[in-house]
Amino acid sequence: MKTSVIGFPRIGDDRQLKKASEAFFAGKASEDELQAVAKSIRAEAWNAQKDRGISFIPSGDFSFYDNVLDAAVMLGAVPERYKALGLSPLETYFAMARGYQGPKGDVKALPMKKWFNTNYHYIVPELGDGDVISADPSRYVAEFEEAKAQGVVTVPSLIGPYTFLRLARYVGEKCRHCFAGDVANAYAAVIEALAKAGAGRVALAEPALVLDTDADDLSLFTKVYSLVLPASRKAGAKVALQTYFGDIRDSWDAVMSAGFDAIGLDFFEGRERNLACLREKGFADGATLLAGVVCGKNIWRTDYAAAKETISAICSTVPRDRVAIGASCSLLHVPWTVKSEKTLPQDVLKHFAFAIEKLDELKDLGDLADGGASTAFDANRALFGGVRVKADEKVRSAVAALTNADFERKPAFAEREAIQRKRFALPKFPTTTIGSFPQTKEVRAKRAALRKGEITPAQYEEYIKAKIAECVRLQEDIGLDILVHGEYERNDMVEYFGDHLDGFVFTDKAWVQSYGTRCVKPPIVWGDISRREPITVKWSVYAQSLTKKPMKGMLTGPVTILNWSFPREDIPLRDQTLQIALAIRAEVLDLEAAGIPVIQIDEAALREKLPLRREDWRPKYLDWAIPAFRLVHSGVRPETQIHTHMCYSEFGDIIRDIDAMDADVITFEASRADLKVLDDLKAADFRTEVGPGVYDIHSPRVPSVEEIVAAVGKMAAKVGTEKLWINPDCGLKTRGEPETEASLRNLVAAARKLRLS
Ligand code: GLN
Ligand code: ZN
Repeated sequence: MKTSVIGFPRIGDDRQLKKASEAFFAGKASEDELQAVAKSIRAEAWNAQKDRGISFIPSGDFSFYDNVLDAAVMLGAVPERYKALGLSPLETYFAMARGYQGPKGDVKALPMKKWFNTNYHYIVPELGDGDVISADPSRYVAEFEEAKAQGVVTVPSLIGPYTFLRLARYVGEKCRHCFAGDVANAYAAVIEALAKAGAGRVALAEPALVLDTDADDLSLFTKVYSLVLPASRKAGAKVALQTYFGDIRDSWDAVMSAGFDAIGLDFFEGRERNLACLREKGFADGATLLAGVVCGKNIWRTDYAAAKETISAICSTVPRDRVAIGASCSLLHVPWTVKSEKTLPQDVLKHFAFAIEKLDELKDLGDLADGGASTAFDANRALFGGVRVKADEKVRSAVAALTNADFERKPAFAEREAIQRKRFALPKFPTTTIGSFPQTKEVRAKRAALRKGEITPAQYEEYIKAKIAECVRLQEDIGLDILVHGEYERNDMVEYFGDHLDGFVFTDKAWVQSYGTRCVKPPIVWGDISRREPITVKWSVYAQSLTKKPMKGMLTGPVTILNWSFPREDIPLRDQTLQIALAIRAEVLDLEAAGIPVIQIDEAALREKLPLRREDWRPKYLDWAIPAFRLVHSGVRPETQIHTHMCYSEFGDIIRDIDAMDADVITFEASRADLKVLDDLKAADFRTEVGPGVYDIHSPRVPSVEEIVAAVGKMAAKVGTEKLWINPDCGLKTRGEPETEASLRNLVAAARKLRLS
């Protein structure tokens, strides 16, 4: 059976591309040096796939920053302000991705958005009325030839025209339909050039087909492909359509009848509905089915018996010689190889499959489908037959014993609000921050020194305490109302908690690209989760001992901890989240008992795993994610104030669910987005008090007092002044100390001014 790969990680097994790119940005490496690193990463990826006999190996899946941005550049969709800088093509590309500030001008980056339901982010292309679509296939042709020179005949793989048109932002009068014809023709021209270079097959990724698709979307899809497909056929190139991240329940008929040579379907995330469609509606005549049976997003070994069953189910509809197997999506979302892990024991590592190991699995599964690979199958049976982790019965029964009352905070919001107003007696427009203060080089160096044993834990603790004291003094001096301890003890808001909970394991090098050169190393949920001991209490208590002002305890919420980890696959996400919720709940109660009056539980990533299909939102996610948050704080006394924080304001469509988290105060990012969310808050008669961030912490710019007053004025006009808090839009840890102090002083000055008016 043939095997197919959609895309491979491009950051390198040791983040070589990140390092080379950052050296290039800093002017410490030339473009040639960066290109050389890129070339060697591509060669390594192609060789790994060739060695395992993968039948369809992609090219063009590499990117210096993002594949959607690559498609925009291929189409000439480069806004004038970037062209006007007069930079080299690569520098122009990076200017679109990261902004440019230098001798040639000052432009902001294009916006970045979450890539479907992953923690990867893509650059949003921009199309204005004057933009002329053209076709520049050179980069894809060059990579096809580069691979060919290394003895690998690849399938050039591009983000498809439909997904491009759906994700682009239209800044003029023209809409996606206006650009559809030109975009389709440009793709046709690119495919023709690739065919001329010898590519017999081209893959177009259309993950947008797994989103809710209406008649207008379908007409766009049909229009585009009625141009692309005949032109490709004429040029002699086969076109494979690749979907992933779910099923294509509402575009099945359109996809099947369009005339593709191959169609890629996700049988991991989209298994249920794609199999049902296949059974009930059949498959496109004569086309090859690229079946994503190995999970492309998580790091666990594939259960071969389950995969075999899926393959058989597929083969009962589609003839075996027209089925190829692959991963459910690009392997971009998993780390490079388990072989880089030197710390975890073999007994743990044998359960993991990163990108390289997933290639091995594809080879095994292909052989298995052909009647071979029995040794591999037996080994896999043994792996899955054994007990991987001993269940923690205490944790499991605590989850099983939860009743409705555990998810309900008493008394109701309005009563608590009155009690807390009395207790805290805060002025109008109360001020606070989101938790972290600048994590300077010095703070990080101390942590590294502790890790290397250069300083003792006692010395480290003393240092952190000194930083906390400094931070409390500063906040008192600035005049903030609710203080924080500054989070100096934390490397990362998820890793820090994972480190202090039983049930997680950590890797050395399992980096995954989040955007551009930013990579994350998610913890892995290994077993049942429980809290060993209090985690943050001593820091918060120490901070509170230094001031009469209310100190805010700072925790990461269960949904965010889970969403930024690699979850288990042997128990439901809901159960894992509830286990974490119980652990964080214990921490909340300990903080309260130790005299901490305000506790913030961050849910920065709550929206991240919202299912892509609206009909799945509640049953598959919100119905347990929101209760998990409630479980964390339902046990506190009415006078304890619960805050939460989210890193975006795009929650207009789930606003009632956000209110149902039943926090007392929610802060969120609103300074960069327009203030549309405030209309939504008003329309929903939002009950929770709100702190829409009044300035953007993602840049070192210091906002002026007037600017903040104006921002708050706009907010107050929408949601009134009664429930409005004043705060930055996220944690300050990535900022420097001078601009942080200046910004916060202006923030408090603005609040004081507003109180007088
Ligand atoms: N409390 C965290 C901080 O201030 C929140 C970070 C976040 O939302 N990403 O750093
Ligand atoms: Zn945030």
